[in-house]
Amino acid sequence: MRIIKGKGVVPEIAVGRFFMLDKKDAGAGITPSQSCTADISAELELFRTAANTAAKEFESLAIIAKDRAGDAEAEIFETHRLMLLDDDLSGEAEVLIKEGQSAISAIRISGDRLKAMLLGSDSDYMRQRAADVEAVCGKLLEILSGGTGEIKLTVPAVIGAFDLTPAQTLTLDRDMVLGFVTGAGGSSSHTAILARSMNIPAVVGAGEIPEEADGATVILDGCEGLLIISPDEDTLNIYKNRMEEKIAERKALEAMSDVSVSYKGKKIRICANIADHAEAEKARLSGADGIGLFRSEFLYMKYGRPPTEDEQLEAYKAAAMGVGRGDVIIRTLDAGADKDIPYLGMKKEPNPALGLRAIRLCLRREELFCKQLKALLRASAKENISILLPMITGAEELLTAKKIIERIKGELARDGIAFDPDTPVGVMIETPSAAIIADRLAENADFFSVGTNDLIQYTMAADRQNSDVSYLCDGVPESVMRLLANIGSCAENAGIWAGICGELAADTDLTEFFLESGYTELSVSPPHITRIKKKISELSGASVKAFRHDGKTHMT
Ligand code: PEP
Ligand code: MG
Repeated sequence: MRIIKGKGVVPEIAVGRFFMLDKKDAGAGITPSQSCTADISAELELFRTAANTAAKEFESLAIIAKDRAGDAEAEIFETHRLMLLDDDLSGEAEVLIKEGQSAISAIRISGDRLKAMLLGSDSDYMRQRAADVEAVCGKLLEILSGGTGEIKLTVPAVIGAFDLTPAQTLTLDRDMVLGFVTGAGGSSSHTAILARSMNIPAVVGAGEIPEEADGATVILDGCEGLLIISPDEDTLNIYKNRMEEKIAERKALEAMSDVSVSYKGKKIRICANIADHAEAEKARLSGADGIGLFRSEFLYMKYGRPPTEDEQLEAYKAAAMGVGRGDVIIRTLDAGADKDIPYLGMKKEPNPALGLRAIRLCLRREELFCKQLKALLRASAKENISILLPMITGAEELLTAKKIIERIKGELARDGIAFDPDTPVGVMIETPSAAIIADRLAENADFFSVGTNDLIQYTMAADRQNSDVSYLCDGVPESVMRLLANIGSCAENAGIWAGICGELAADTDLTEFFLESGYTELSVSPPHITRIKKKISELSGASVKAFRHDGKTHMT
């Protein structure tokens, strides 16, 4: 038995066989493999799927490039797409796979051969084509070995990887992935956040995972942050009992799902954070009073191309119908930092978390922003939609975004398209700058929603994905507590409401502080809703009534 320590991010337990994703030679049940393979038809299928995905991405990039830059730039991506059909590359790769190479090594070998041939040419033009081969092979490898590629298991397992991208986490097959452990990552990374909303037992920041884990039986303890490799009989029994206790605890909390809570006479909304409209139904069943944060960028990741206005409209309406009550707060595209959306063709930046992220990107790429705003406003005609602007740092940015929203309203009105002219526009407070000038921002905001994940990262200058500096954020630093208190009181003074939608909202040790600071909404992953409601009921005491969603009084 061997125990590896990381950080538990989803307090659940999983027991099962362990598969390491980024080992040299992938084992049974996992694709893609890295070198030689016995399963030729599976590898061929993988290669062809990757080539198709890459072709679609190049096609979208060509359209975007034509729009934003011109025909010559669009031509680059069209060349890349055509290269995928080239016999010297794809044809050669398929031959190599049929000879027993894995999809990954076939791409590497055929790419290297073609590059060498081009670089040896006398023609300047041909030599320059080597860079295109590099780009095409890079894209195929990215799709096959992570990037936006899905992870497929053929048997249920606990998986391990150096890291998982948010897109990979989002597409994990919940029936097959019992839990996961990553060597890297922090507890408020988007990978951890998605694991929470999917309720997958998860441990991050575990460092190097020993090879002996691969194929062994393991226990993944998401409460204590442990990966227990080849556990002995006694340990297995202890964990089996713990799993039964957890099921009993969950059952006991279920009663809280149809209760709504208040504190000192004020109704407190406990809402859900979702990344996909399909999760809204789960949020309703968990007792959510509405959607406090719809991370719309995952919609953009899901399609592998920009979702059309109509596709967005349908997704936003579906989220509102799925949750069936309260407001649905949709955050505008928060791309950038760890949420790379390849087809947007964003520049590689040395500090992406401090770069062209979220509202900054939307203001730079107005066509993207306007399309989303149109869909949001159209959805507001029939549903309680609120618009939330991420990463605002100052009043100027907020006013610019609001001016664009007003312009879109004007266009919709001119075209006779229905929308709610009073659609609330809220500011996400997640930079120290916004937190400090919350009084100024409140003059032009209908509500505040505090993104504590980023607020902590930027206040402490500690990358939320870097486990080496996560100690700086443990226990909530005093500086962050002061900012949170300031935001709450600025909102109260301005007569607008404020909520917390970052991961701290689920920390019941802070619930009283939040409520005392004036916050009236806490938005968390659906599995946390009943726990928070129970905590508020306890804080309120027996004399304070909680109301069922059906309006009937319920004493807690
Ligand atoms: C936050 O920063 O707290 C937040 C809710 O947004 P995200 O985690 O998606 O950056
Ligand atoms: Mg954020």
